Amino acid sequence: MSWLRFWKQNEESEEIGQAPANDATPAGPPRVRLTTNQPPLPPHLAATRAASGPRPRLEGQALIERLQRRKQDILFEISQSEQAASEENPWRDRMDLLTEALTTVEDDLKALDNVPPEPFAPLPETPITDIAVNTADPPEVAFTIDGQTFHYSEDIDWAERGHQVIRTELVRRAGDPAALVPAPTPDDLKPALMAHLTESLFVFASDLRDRALDGEFQPAHPTLADLARPCPNCGGWMEWGGVCQACARRRAERFRLMAERNGLLSKRAAEADEMTRLIERLPLARRRLIDVETELAAAERNLAASER
Ligand SMILES: [Zn+2]
Repeated sequence: MSWLRFWKQNEESEEIGQAPANDATPAGPPRVRLTTNQPPLPPHLAATRAASGPRPRLEGQALIERLQRRKQDILFEISQSEQAASEENPWRDRMDLLTEALTTVEDDLKALDNVPPEPFAPLPETPITDIAVNTADPPEVAFTIDGQTFHYSEDIDWAERGHQVIRTELVRRAGDPAALVPAPTPDDLKPALMAHLTESLFVFASDLRDRALDGEFQPAHPTLADLARPCPNCGGWMEWGGVCQACARRRAERFRLMAERNGLLSKRAAEADEMTRLIERLPLARRRLIDVETELAAAERNLAASER
């Protein structure tokens, strides 16, 4: 017998008002008593306690009320379980709604696989010349494309710590990206190409600055076309350095839809689990109802008898 079982058995026999049984350890050596904090009661006291019967517990009306509350709880459980077991129930309704939402999300995901290519219009291989980077504070970058000179510099930010310069982004001081959009570009693509060039020129200028600050070589023979190469995945314009914003947007959208899909799947699984759990506990709940009804009848009989 384990210590725990021995201890529990002792406690139980104490609780119902009996002395701890000396023969509670039949498997152990005879008459060797495992140590507990309480010595066994002398025989005459043990007999007195045994005669006095169980300690008073909840009695009479209080016991009946407690049993009635328990019965109400079990009845509620049974009604929930019966509802879950019926053909139409709120769990199935919610699962149906979640399935509908999942279908929509999965359609959106499929649509994402079949998006038409991004718009594209080529830029000429016009060389980018007169690259000049000043690494002083604040850094400055200049270059020329097709006679258009671009100039970028950082804003000086002395505010935060008084004497320390805070690194900021480059700001375009001169040069017009719109002037680089080729005349043959379809009119409906011009605003998008202008927006792309504005961003790509900024990325290019920042790369020139960073290379200079890191002591690296500047890119050899860059051209205007390098600022807007076609993306092998979506066909749209890639920025200088090969980043495609359209693909990044598509990835973010796919990530969002996948997260939504996973969320809906686990919600639907939780509804199914809950429904199964409720159905499975129905037989047990019915048995518990019979038990509590039996106890309640006995308690009512006892109360009636004590009042006579
Ligand atoms: Zn792309």
